[in-house]
Amino acid sequence: MRAAASLWATALFSQTKPEETEYYSPVPKVVTPGAAYGKPPSDAIVLFDGKNMDEWVPTKDTSSTSKWTVAKGVMTVNKANGDMQTKRRFMDYQLHIEYQIPSYITGSGQARGNSGIFLAALPWGAGGYEVQVLDNYKNTTYVNGQAGSLYKQYPPLVNACRKPGEWQTYDIIWTAPRFNEDGTLLSAARATVMLNGVLVQNNAVLKGDTPYIGAPEYKKHGASPIKLQAHGDKSEPISYRNIWLREL
Ligand code: MG
Repeated sequence: MRAAASLWATALFSQTKPEETEYYSPVPKVVTPGAAYGKPPSDAIVLFDGKNMDEWVPTKDTSSTSKWTVAKGVMTVNKANGDMQTKRRFMDYQLHIEYQIPSYITGSGQARGNSGIFLAALPWGAGGYEVQVLDNYKNTTYVNGQAGSLYKQYPPLVNACRKPGEWQTYDIIWTAPRFNEDGTLLSAARATVMLNGVLVQNNAVLKGDTPYIGAPEYKKHGASPIKLQAHGDKSEPISYRNIWLREL
């Protein structure tokens, strides 16, 4: 098979040498990978390393110093202090983030460990483009609102949730939307999402932001913070750890 393909290629490209389609610059930058899967590579911006929330501010008052609870290397949602967002703003990136639904979680449907990762936090509507965080290990809800969904737009390709009490990982590739001068959409946002190493969103093209009620909409914005949701459900707060990204 290989020999046949090679003969065909030789015949087709007989006037050219292999070197004619090979090039040597620009040379890709060297990035030292993390020591193990999930550890930040050398060019990562670390947003939470287990010690403090210096990279974060409360969404409801970005001048406030109130945070979530940091202990034993993890940060746990403090619902009274609300959503937390990064001080920095980003366009396109590769994000790694880990979360844990507590083993003693209660509630059902959307009221069972609800949180969320807003890939670009926006100061209007429901607040941006949300990748849902929820306990969907044997917990059903509307499919375009379960863990791994791009909330209210795309259900996950599969349900890859681990049991409550276990740490879970999200690896997300985000391409921010681009807008024309007049505010119209130039190119839609795109997201690829792996939940626990399993592909759940494959280069999904977003239809707009993710409102709770109504259709998604695009409104012009630029680089934006990343926001973590303190959901108002009555279930026990969830935790996050090991958050970093690489700008693309
Ligand atoms: Mg949510």
